[in-house]
Amino acid sequence: MKKIGILTSGGDAPGMNAAIRAVVRKSIYNGLEAYGIYQGYSGLINGNIKQLELGSVGDIIHRGGTMLRSARCEEFKTKEGQQKGIEQLKKFGIDALVVIGGDGSFMGAKALTEQGFPCIGVPATIDNDISGTQFTIGFDTALNTVLNAIDRIRDTASSHERTFIIEVMGRDAGDIALWSGLAGGAETILVPEEKYDMENIAERLHSGQKRGKKHSIIIVAEGVMSATEFAEELKKSINIETRVSVLGHIQRGGTPTGFDRVLASRLGARAVELLMEGKGGRTVGIEKDQIVDNDILSVLGQPRKFSSDMYDLSQVLSI
Ligand code: ADP
Repeated sequence: MKKIGILTSGGDAPGMNAAIRAVVRKSIYNGLEAYGIYQGYSGLINGNIKQLELGSVGDIIHRGGTMLRSARCEEFKTKEGQQKGIEQLKKFGIDALVVIGGDGSFMGAKALTEQGFPCIGVPATIDNDISGTQFTIGFDTALNTVLNAIDRIRDTASSHERTFIIEVMGRDAGDIALWSGLAGGAETILVPEEKYDMENIAERLHSGQKRGKKHSIIIVAEGVMSATEFAEELKKSINIETRVSVLGHIQRGGTPTGFDRVLASRLGARAVELLMEGKGGRTVGIEKDQIVDNDILSVLGQPRKFSSDMYDLSQVLSI
């Protein structure tokens, strides 16, 4: 193996740049050439490919987003699209590919591997919704961005004695809501993985008020419902004034935290090692601070485990 391709695909996540840097530098350190594929699978199909040198990835470790840019590409879901991609890889003499992205991107990597082209998936998404790793690149940064917003909203909530309903991202996963809610001292956290009981929520808010609690923070994961819908539901059960805040895309950008940069560096480097060992069709991840790798099929076939213990703790601490 002489040439490794790298692409970022799907939703961008802070730390993707640190992962690109790690793949490029680890490859060059080991005498390999690194090729950047721009705009995800769409750039792969169109041959938007350039060789990356050590300096090409300088000054990016601290930047959010992805220097290779990202794109959604419907054509790549078809066999014909995948064949076009493989032809481009052959044209450039690329022997293996590192795909940095979420589970959609991993489906693309799986398809290429099944057609004989070795790929490694590096999990990068703020949603933390991929199995085979305790954390995905970008989650820690998003968590801290949300936390910062919660802390600011809390100031207003307490000054005006109001209940705030904050909607956070996560697609079908509740990790951003759970972690930010626990760390932000939210009174109520709604996640797709756990059923909620409106009467119970209303009762808790009510008893808090009776005890003299002047304000409340409720975190709603977007996978449950919108914050506006929740505010309407809550109004039916308890007559309190609420304000809604939808954090939106601010959660996706920003300078990656130290944790995300280190995770991205470790996972990117391990992806190159696996390819050098002749292994494809795998994903890398972190479990108990050890870098691990798993069969991409098993990762895509399994829903990620939700931490019910942490959810229970959040219930205990928010009485
Ligand atoms: P993420 O990687 O963040 O989950 P998406 O689900 O949007 O993001 O997937 C990113 C891209 O991965 C898609 O635009 C498409 O090009 C590719 N992809 C998704 N699903 C498949 C599939 N079943 N087969 C091949 N490629 C896929």
